[in-house]
This record gives sequence, structure tokens and C-alpha cells, in this order.
Amino acid sequence: MPTVAEPFVALVVDKSPDGEVSAKVSDLTLADLPAGEVVIEVEYASFNYKDALACQGHPGVVRSLPHVPGIDCAGTVAASDSDDWNVGDSVLVTGYGLGAEQWGGYSQYVRVPADWVVAMPEGLDARRAMAIGTAGFTAAQSVSAIVERNILPDKGPVVVTGATGGVGMWSVAILAKLGYEVTAVSGKSEQAALLRQLGAAEVVGRDAVNDSSDRPLLKSKWAAAVDTVGGVPLATILRSTLHRGCVTACGLVAGADLPLTVHPFILRGVTLAGIDSAKCPRAMRLEMWKHLSTDWKVDLPEECLTEITLSEVSDRVQQIMAGKVVGRTLVLPKK
Ligand code: NDP
Repeated sequence: MPTVAEPFVALVVDKSPDGEVSAKVSDLTLADLPAGEVVIEVEYASFNYKDALACQGHPGVVRSLPHVPGIDCAGTVAASDSDDWNVGDSVLVTGYGLGAEQWGGYSQYVRVPADWVVAMPEGLDARRAMAIGTAGFTAAQSVSAIVERNILPDKGPVVVTGATGGVGMWSVAILAKLGYEVTAVSGKSEQAALLRQLGAAEVVGRDAVNDSSDRPLLKSKWAAAVDTVGGVPLATILRSTLHRGCVTACGLVAGADLPLTVHPFILRGVTLAGIDSAKCPRAMRLEMWKHLSTDWKVDLPEECLTEITLSEVSDRVQQIMAGKVVGRTLVLPKK
């Protein structure tokens, strides 16, 4: 049975007296952790774009410093004051306030409210669950928004932006598994073979969805889209979507502005579906994990997964901010 071994290591982001924010591996005890009913011994955490912002103390993500980032974690219940969870249960947590409003998964132990905890779905383990993490969970919600609107594979191709990123890769893989013809948009032409291996029928450069003209509508091409980048690419795709198509939006790496008129909505009946993973209601959350462990289950090739330790997170922050990360990064809670 797991017991809590103190002190334990965590990645702590803090500000120095001269105002510089940095992340350091530090010793913590349970007394340092936030309140909650369940203590989890973390086996794996994962690294997402939002974690990179948290590691830099970004005020849009982190409420106060010092802070422990990590919006996802999976492991074993080490202590529980909740009737719903027992010591030894295999569990995961993604989103809610983990790693944002509350200290997160870049730690050997986390303490969280009982209703944030999800039982490890049958067929997954901590490593596979964190290969999915918020990225795969967001992809699943995006695919679900498309399927919900009855846009099935016979309706036409689906475009995915930021395709070599975490959300993008999972979206390509799940959509391909479900039989959609997927066009992957990527700035990394050298990763085209990998994207085809995941199931993309076509791989195009970012220029293919970068129309900054003021034309309200463009030639329609896509039945649906999973956009992970926002900005001009999202506006281009909305103007290029077929009648009654659906475009999901979750990210902003290409920009938070949306230069657009209402024409795609009122002339083509296009739906813009917003995706918000952190506050996803519990019933939908469980439904998504069920899909991810059964009918939408995909194992990403090992070459899409990179394991790093807490000391290596800061380098990864620089890489993801430069748009250079490919696939999913798993974080081992050790120095
Ligand atoms: P990643 O960094 O893993 O992937 C983003 C990808 O976008 C990159 O790999 C790159 O792919 C592409 N990209 C990077 N910079 C640019 C740019 N300037 N212009 C166009 N494309 C670019 O991030 P995640 O997959 O973890 O997250 C993607 C986005 O979704 C982020 O904005 C994140 O905050 C957001 N997100 C939102 C969630 C929500 O609930 N709303 C949940 C999860 C993520 P390539 O080189 O292949 O083009």
C-alpha cells in the first residue's frame, strides 16, 4: 500500500526579490499542499502549452506564487478522507483547477478535492493516461462536438491545425480511427510522414489556412475542423467550411483575435464550437474517458512520446513556446 514519504520533490515556480520568475525542484511536505480529501502519489504527469505558461508564472493561468504547475497527473491514491476513493486506487486528474488555481502534478504527491478524481479507465494505465492527458481529452471533446452535429465521415474532409502538437496529434489519430479523411496542417514539413502514420490523408503547410484578405467567405473545403491555434488560421477555416459544417476552437498559439464577419454563420450555417477542458462537466468528462479507453482508443507511436524529469521541464518550456515540440511530453515526478 502506498504511504506518503516526506519530504518529497516538486517543481516550484516562484519570483525572486528582483522580480524574476523561475522554476526549481524543491522539497515539500504534505503540510505544504492545498486542502483536499485525496492525496495521490503521482506516477506520471504531462506537459501542455498551459503548463508552459504556468512555469513562467503567467497571470492568466497562475493565481499566486509560489506555485506547482502540472494540469494533469495519474497515479495511486496514497491517503483518502473520501468514501469514494480508497488507498491503492489507480486514478487520474486532468483540468479543474489542477496546476492553475491549485498546486498541480509536477510533484511526487498532489492533494485534490475528491470530485476532481477519475478512476483509471480499464485498458489504460498511468503512462497511457498521461500520453492522453488534457491534450487527448481536448481532442476527444473536439471530435465529440463534430460527431454530435451528425457530421459523419461521408460529409467530407476534416482539417486539424497545430497537427504535431498534443491536441492536434490526438485529433488526427482519433478522427482517422473513426474513418474521417483528415487534412493535417503543420509548420513542420519534416513530420509529414509521422502525421500520415497517425492517419492523415493529406499534410499541408500553415500557409494553406492563412488567408488574411478581408473576403467574408472563401471557397468551401472542409466538412469540419479541429482548430488548436486560433487567430487568422481559425478565421480562414471558418470562411472555408462547407454548409452546416462545424469548427471547434480550443487554442490561441497563432493569436487570440478572430478577424471575421458573421457571413460563415448566417449564409453557410457554420457552427463554431468552443472547447473548454478544465471546467468540463463531470458526466461529459467520464464519457470522454470512456471513449478514449474503448471505441476511440489509439496508442500513439512511441516516437510521439518524450519522457522528462522535473529538472528538464524548464528547457521544454522554451521549446513549446517556440512551437518546436512534437507530440506528447510525459513528466516523471523526480529530480
Ligand atoms: P502544443 O504546443 O503541443 O501544440 C501547438 C501546435 O500549434 C504546435 O505544435 C504547432 O504545430 C502549432 N503552432 C505553434 N505555434 C504556431 C503559430 N504561431 N501559428 C500556427 N501554428 C502554431 O500545444 P497543445 O496541443 O497542448 O495546445 C494547443 C492549444 O490549445 C494551446 O493554445 C493550448 O493553450 C490550447 N488548449 C486549450 C484547451 C482548452 O480547454 N480550451 C485544452 C488544451 C489545450 P505545427 O508545427 O504542427 O503547426
